[in-house]
Amino acid sequence: MEAAAGGAEPAGGCAGAPEEPVVSLADVLAENEELEKEARAVLGGSDHERCSYSQGAVKRQALYACSTCTPPGEEPAGICLACSYECHGTHKLFELYTKRNFRCDCGNSKFKNLQCKLFPEKGKVNSGNKYNHNFYGLYCVCKRPYPDPEDEIPDEMIQCIVCEDWFHGRHLGAVPPESGDFHEMVCQACMNCCAFLWAYTSQLAVPTVTKVTSLDDERIVLNVKETEEQNREIKKESGGDHQGKIKEEEQVEQYNEPSTSSGSKCPETVTKSDEPVCKLRELQTKQCLKKDTATFWPSNWRSKLCTCKDCLKMYSELDVQFLIDECDTVLAYENKGTSDQETDRRDPLMDTLNSMNRVQQVELICEYNDLKTELTDYLRRFADEGTVVKREDIQQFFEEFQSRKRRRTNRMQYYCS
Ligand SMILES: [Zn+2]
Ligand SMILES: [Zn+2]
Ligand SMILES: [Zn+2]
Ligand SMILES: [Zn+2]
Ligand SMILES: [Zn+2]
Ligand SMILES: [Zn+2]
Repeated sequence: MEAAAGGAEPAGGCAGAPEEPVVSLADVLAENEELEKEARAVLGGSDHERCSYSQGAVKRQALYACSTCTPPGEEPAGICLACSYECHGTHKLFELYTKRNFRCDCGNSKFKNLQCKLFPEKGKVNSGNKYNHNFYGLYCVCKRPYPDPEDEIPDEMIQCIVCEDWFHGRHLGAVPPESGDFHEMVCQACMNCCAFLWAYTSQLAVPTVTKVTSLDDERIVLNVKETEEQNREIKKESGGDHQGKIKEEEQVEQYNEPSTSSGSKCPETVTKSDEPVCKLRELQTKQCLKKDTATFWPSNWRSKLCTCKDCLKMYSELDVQFLIDECDTVLAYENKGTSDQETDRRDPLMDTLNSMNRVQQVELICEYNDLKTELTDYLRRFADEGTVVKREDIQQFFEEFQSRKRRRTNRMQYYCS
């Protein structure tokens, strides 16, 4: 069977030609397999055949919540990728993207009418799991679904790397930098919990524009970076405290880390890094500004956080040890997914995916899952009948798929697979 090169690429220049360019099923399936490899890279190391329960709390995995099995009002539960396919294939699922330290709940005591097909012998509950409103399909401080049919303002959703909830860009207290300019975000609430991070902001964080949320005027914005520079200038000139502070000062409190033992120094010896002193304490001697905003961080910022004994203790008390673990990042997880496949192939599609934000990626994965299922079903008919798949058949499929997709996205819930 002679196949048009490149599978479904348009047959340029032969419009009206009597011969139908045809694509063999093998070609389509080969391309399908390529696509599947890429999608698996995005789904990271998540196993799509075996329930992840036996691995215990998985460091990071693709996770889903089933609105059919555990609707709002019931106890929240999360299920692994394989279970989303095998045990909840026809159910209404919320895509949670990835979460850390989670153990699959599929079929445990939270499920009244479902037995897991892949790993039925689970314990009653997973006490280490953390749940939030994402498991009911709600996101952000505004507790809205995504996509939100009542929200007409186009806005991207950004995941906080500490609480792993998703936030509207406009609900972070600061205008997010361009998505390519930062890698990770810590939300307002988590910045309050992890207040020590404010000491690192001037050195590490990506500068933002602060939204002044005075009740009368939400549109005024101040450039924080400039303001900080002004502050420094003013300080230099006047030698410290002064009158006539700028407007933003009211919103900015001088940052003081509540020190565990006042005035004590981080030990100079016990450090994992080569740094002889506590980086955090060093930074805290400089002026730190604490604002009520989310913060945005570049790649590899985690490795620049102090790892002295005192800081490690503090991370553990705050339950944020993952902050110094570059392998905890979504990027590391995705890279693992890629390297689990054939390794040394740089693909333009992966480059594109990496440059997309999380929401765009999730949408792509969901679209891909939909596409794969429907395309496979569609092609099976041709295989069963032993007929050749023509280009127009494929075109027709994609047109129908597009219109089905439009109908789907117009509906309330966010379907996956
Ligand atoms: Zn599972
Ligand atoms: Zn279900
Ligand atoms: Zn299951
Ligand atoms: Zn919101
Ligand atoms: Zn958070
Ligand atoms: Zn330290």
